[in-house]
Amino acid sequence: MKVHPRAIIDHSALRHNLACVRRRAPESRVWAVVKANGYGHGMVPVATTLEAADGLAVARIEEGVRLREAGIAKPILVMEGFLFDDELAAARAHGLELALHQPEQVALLERTRTTTTGPLRVWIKVDTGMYRLGFEPREVPALLTRLHAAPGIAEPVGLMTHLAKADDPRDPLTQLQCDRLCALDPTAKYHLSIGNSAGILACPASRTHWVRPGIMLYGASPLNGRTAAELGLQPVMRLATRLIAVRALRRGDAVGYGGTYVCPEDMPVGVAAIGYGDGYPRHAPTGTPVLVNGRRAPLVGRVSMDMISIDLRGLPATVVGDPVTLWGEGLPVDEIAEREGTLSYELLCQVTSRVRMEHQGMESLP
Ligand SMILES: *Cc1c(COP(=O)(O)O)cnc(C)c1O
Repeated sequence: MKVHPRAIIDHSALRHNLACVRRRAPESRVWAVVKANGYGHGMVPVATTLEAADGLAVARIEEGVRLREAGIAKPILVMEGFLFDDELAAARAHGLELALHQPEQVALLERTRTTTTGPLRVWIKVDTGMYRLGFEPREVPALLTRLHAAPGIAEPVGLMTHLAKADDPRDPLTQLQCDRLCALDPTAKYHLSIGNSAGILACPASRTHWVRPGIMLYGASPLNGRTAAELGLQPVMRLATRLIAVRALRRGDAVGYGGTYVCPEDMPVGVAAIGYGDGYPRHAPTGTPVLVNGRRAPLVGRVSMDMISIDLRGLPATVVGDPVTLWGEGLPVDEIAEREGTLSYELLCQVTSRVRMEHQGMESLP
């Protein structure tokens, strides 16, 4: 009997979602984004299953090094680049591709003597309208000249940009950002990378040489107002636990911390072993659905560190030990995120190490 909260990771769904990316962007090569522990799904197992991707993208050098140490040999792009020379040395030693987004990084590249390692692949991160990281478009031509002259840089250099509002397909900024990047490469000399999940699904101009899907690989929707199922995506994570108590409460009993939910009648209330200490969102309000034995029931009262309470009036046959699903097949993580006023990205990433991760279907079928 497995009581503890579990995150069951469905690797066949991961492969299915990668195939969706391929169908949407058939001309593009795919950087599968596995930063932040594979959006909470386990970076190395996810990266292993996403073998059919052309490369893996991470945020930080140490994530790339960890993939290499796990024996992963495919191209790896570090999207935040590096700050210190030991990071640059590690990137060279492990053959990581680096995003350059500020002059200090270029100066460091120019200062460093090339070693016995092969030429370094670099991408210029261009700020086309996100106003977070990146060089301004007007700085790029001079930068390209500098990089061509720098020692140990592989050709061609890549140009990448990140979309700020692609989750709203009607927002004109997305097309504008694509146009701004493409304008820097009129003779198609460089590799361009634009599309994140939302771009891949809703903005054809972002399906450049390389795309960088993250959230859609994990089966959640990047687009406002569109469900993952409508987009043909399958959920990869199922967050599950069990009922550890079924109480017969009386009318007027106030459930949990603060007694915020008062039973309107005599009613059964279940207690499930999961809480914010496991990464379940503490602010999930009364009414947030969970699945008990595969059927919907509403959470009541406040989320505790280790437990939640569930209104079982609709499910009278429920007993202690019955399975509870917090999100996954039949209960999209996007729906929980919306109730809680956040994004699926955050919910998936914040599942804590206290939750046991179980990987299913890791070997692909012949
Ligand atoms: C995280 C990230 C992505 C992936 O975005 P999704 O919305 O999850 O598809 C792509 N590019 C960059 C630069 C990122 O930081």
